[in-house]
Amino acid sequence: MSNGDAASGLNQQEWGARYDRTIMNTFGHPKRVLVRGEGAVVWDADGKRYTDFLAGIAVNALGHANPEVNRAVAEQMNTLGHISNIFASPTQIRLGEELVALASRESAPGTPARVFFANSGTEANEAAFKATRMTGRKKIVAMIGSFHGRSMGSLAITYNEHYRKPFEPLPGEIIWTPYGDVAALEKVVDDTVAAVVTEPIQGENGVIEPPDDFLPAVRRITAEHGALMWIDEVQTGMGRCGEWFAHQRLDVVPDLISVAKGLGNGFPMGACIALGPAADLFGPGEHGTTFGGNPVACAAGLAVISYIKSHDLLDHVKQMGLRLADKVMSLDDPRIATVRGRGLLRGIVLTKPLGAEAAAAALEAGWIINSPRPSVLRIAPPLIVTAEQIDEFVDVLPSLLDAAENR
Ligand SMILES: *Cc1c(COP(=O)(O)O)cnc(C)c1O
Repeated sequence: MSNGDAASGLNQQEWGARYDRTIMNTFGHPKRVLVRGEGAVVWDADGKRYTDFLAGIAVNALGHANPEVNRAVAEQMNTLGHISNIFASPTQIRLGEELVALASRESAPGTPARVFFANSGTEANEAAFKATRMTGRKKIVAMIGSFHGRSMGSLAITYNEHYRKPFEPLPGEIIWTPYGDVAALEKVVDDTVAAVVTEPIQGENGVIEPPDDFLPAVRRITAEHGALMWIDEVQTGMGRCGEWFAHQRLDVVPDLISVAKGLGNGFPMGACIALGPAADLFGPGEHGTTFGGNPVACAAGLAVISYIKSHDLLDHVKQMGLRLADKVMSLDDPRIATVRGRGLLRGIVLTKPLGAEAAAAALEAGWIINSPRPSVLRIAPPLIVTAEQIDEFVDVLPSLLDAAENR
């Protein structure tokens, strides 16, 4: 296989021009046009190689072109590709059972637990949002700094005004409360609130983790008022933070869990998992999707879970995450304030707003990272990343910051 796109012979610049003419300008000009990937490495249309420490924004958990996932997907596509939800497939049922088993680890045996399959994170959240309306209550308490997606429902609970304003009115009523602040939460949750929605770590907001007492307090306060605890694990779930779901580190059992990104290793899919009585909020006809739970997507999900288990990746993620954080801190670089996050979802916090420049310098040096906030670098490599790749990144980091300062 060639490193560039040999068949077309087009380079970066030519592809970029065609992109600009044809693709809606929601994302701006692409940073690169990529043509091939393998493990934690990708190549662009000019044949340049990059180590991918962003993994398609925390999606390619098992790396690019993972043979086991791809075999499962190809076999399922060749056996039975799509059937709609008028019918079911063994693949879908098995993945549902796996997800329920992984999510309900701490809950009492015999309590109900069910899954609704979707095609993305925003759709997983849309399902959860609609489930909250089935309680008969309408108010949702959401967190300042949150990100939950771009559909009208998931956007309504996304904090960034720049994303939200042009599309108002959005579904209400949403009450905003400071992330991680138990006393503030206590004040806004009453018996009219349908749900409190929170991420276990705010990824888009710069990899921010609330104090350890926050999620248990969300559980306690929602339970006291008969409200649902809805946790958005789209970015943090599927092993990304060293547990199947990041909230499990704190032994909290939520009512609704949204999952997506890492679930299909790049095959688009999402899921809303409901534990306990929330599992029975929807009845026939009250929500739906054509593609959600499609056998091919579910085959990808099953292969991802099986790979994470058989390769002991949760342990590996914890070790690699600590290794990255320790090594970055021991650089003792005055431009680095701290390293936040868990497992392999990390934010390197800079003392100056050099994030965008550092991400651009990284790309030139053959590293893919991004900067969700001006002074934060987000590091989310595939979960299969090696110690050598981590060390290599830490070794080049000071030179990336030098280049960023000189841009
Ligand atoms: C990415 C993300 C979403 C949206 O997922 P899409 O698949 O882009 O629709 C929702 N919530 C969180 C926390 C995310 O990181």
